[in-house]
Amino acid sequence: MGKRVVVVGAGAGGGLAASRIRKLLPVDSVEVMVIDKYGRTDFQPSYTLVALGNRQPHQISTGIENFARTGIKPVRGEVTAVDPKERTVTVSGQKIQYDVLVLSPGVKFDPASFPGYENAYHFWDMESAMKLREKVAGFRSGKIVISVTTQVYKCPPVPWEMALMLDDYFRMKGIRRNVSITVAHWAPRPMAMFGPVISDPMTEWLSERNIEVVNGFRLARIDGGSRKLIGESGETVDYDLAIVAPPHRPHDFISQNPDIASPNGWLDSNIRDFRTSKFDDIYGIGDAIAPSIGLGMAGVFAHFQADTVASLVAGDILGSYSPVPYNTVGLCAADTGDAGWIAYCDFRKKLTVPNTPFPDCRSMGRNRLMKMAHAIYEKYFLANIYGGWYS
Ligand SMILES: Cc1cc2nc3c(=O)[nH]c(=O)nc-3n(C[C@H](O)[C@H](O)[C@H](O)COP(=O)(O)OP(=O)(O)OC[C@H]3O[C@@H](n4cnc5c(N)ncnc54)[C@H](O)[C@@H]3O)c2cc1C
Repeated sequence: MGKRVVVVGAGAGGGLAASRIRKLLPVDSVEVMVIDKYGRTDFQPSYTLVALGNRQPHQISTGIENFARTGIKPVRGEVTAVDPKERTVTVSGQKIQYDVLVLSPGVKFDPASFPGYENAYHFWDMESAMKLREKVAGFRSGKIVISVTTQVYKCPPVPWEMALMLDDYFRMKGIRRNVSITVAHWAPRPMAMFGPVISDPMTEWLSERNIEVVNGFRLARIDGGSRKLIGESGETVDYDLAIVAPPHRPHDFISQNPDIASPNGWLDSNIRDFRTSKFDDIYGIGDAIAPSIGLGMAGVFAHFQADTVASLVAGDILGSYSPVPYNTVGLCAADTGDAGWIAYCDFRKKLTVPNTPFPDCRSMGRNRLMKMAHAIYEKYFLANIYGGWYS
C-alpha cells in the first residue's frame, strides 16, 4: 500500500504545504490529502477590502475542490482529534490514517469569552467583514475605535493599517470631518513591535491623517450601554463604532491534546524543522504555532514554513534529506489608504539571539506603486495556493 500525507487546514500554510509536497512526491505511490473545515481558502489580507466594499467575497476565495486538479485529495470536514500513537485523525467521526501529518489549522475565534464583545464588529473573517461593511457604509458621523482583545492576533500591523484605510474611505465620501478615528492598542507606540524604523513613519502618517492613538491600552471589556471600551486599569475610550479583533485561541483538538500542544495550549513546533517535540511524523506550521515559537501571526511566515516542511516531508517519505532552510523574513504589503507600503523584516536574530528587542526591519517605501503589490499578491496567492506554476 502507498503512503499518505495528510494536511489539516487549506489556508496559507496548509494549502501551500500540500501543493509543494504533491510536486515533490510521486503521484502513484503517495497520496496527499487536505482536510478543511470550511472547504475553501480565503486571501485573508483582503478582508479589509471586503469590509470597505472594494472586494466581493468570491474575488478573494477559492474552493478546495480545485486541489483535485493537481492530484491532491480534498476532504471537507472538521478534524476533532489527532491520535499520534495510532497515526490517525478523526474527521466527522471517521478515522483517517496518515504516515506524515502536517497541521496548519490556524486559530479559533472565541468572542463569547470576552465581556461585552457582542457590541463590537470586526474584519478578521469573511462573514464578520461583510457585517462590518454594512455598518461602515451607513456610518455618517461619530467615533470609530479600533482595538484588540488578545496580545496575539492575525496580522499585527492591521489595526493601524485599517485606520489609514478608513481615513481614506471617509475622505473619498467627503465626510471625514464628521468621523473621528482612534486606535487603542496595547503597544507602547504604533507598530512598536517592529522597532523605530517602522514605528516612526507609521506614527507620523497617523498624525498627518488626524488619527488618534491611545497607546498602552489593554482592553478588558466593552460596555455597550455607555459605549465605552474599558481598559485593564479602568481607563476608558468612548466609541460609536467599535472594531475589535476577537480573542484568538488554539483549537480544542490541539489545546486538549498534550501529545501535540505546548504548555501554553498552542500547537507544539520549533523553528528548526517544525516537528512536534514528541512525534517526528507530525509537523506544525502557521498561526497555530505562532505563540509557541515566538512569532506573530502572518501568512508570510506560514508560507516560508510550508516551504521548509514540504522539503522535510519529501525527505521523510523518499529517504533523502535535502531540506529548504526556514526563511525568517516577513514582508508586509500594507494598504495605507491613498498609498501602499511595504515593510521588510528579518526575524532570524530575534528568534535565535536572546533579548533581541526587534526584528531587522526596513521600510521599502510608501507610494501608489506599492499599493499595487497587495493586489498583485492577492492574484498570485489565489492562482498558486492549490498548485499553480510557482508552488
Ligand atoms: C484582516 C487580515 C489581514 C491580514 N494581512 C496579512 C498580511 O498583510 N500579511 C500576512 O503575511 N498575513 C496577513 N494576515 C494573516 C494571514 O492571513 C494568516 O497568518 C495566515 O492565513 C495563516 O495561515 P494558516 O495556514 O496558519 O491559517 P489559515 O490561513 O487561517 O488556515 C487555516 C485553515 O484551517 C481550517 N481549519 C481550522 N480548524 C480546522 C479543523 N478542526 N479541521 C479542519 N480544518 C480546519 C480552516 O478552515 C482554514 O482554512 C492577515 C489576516 C487577516 C485576518
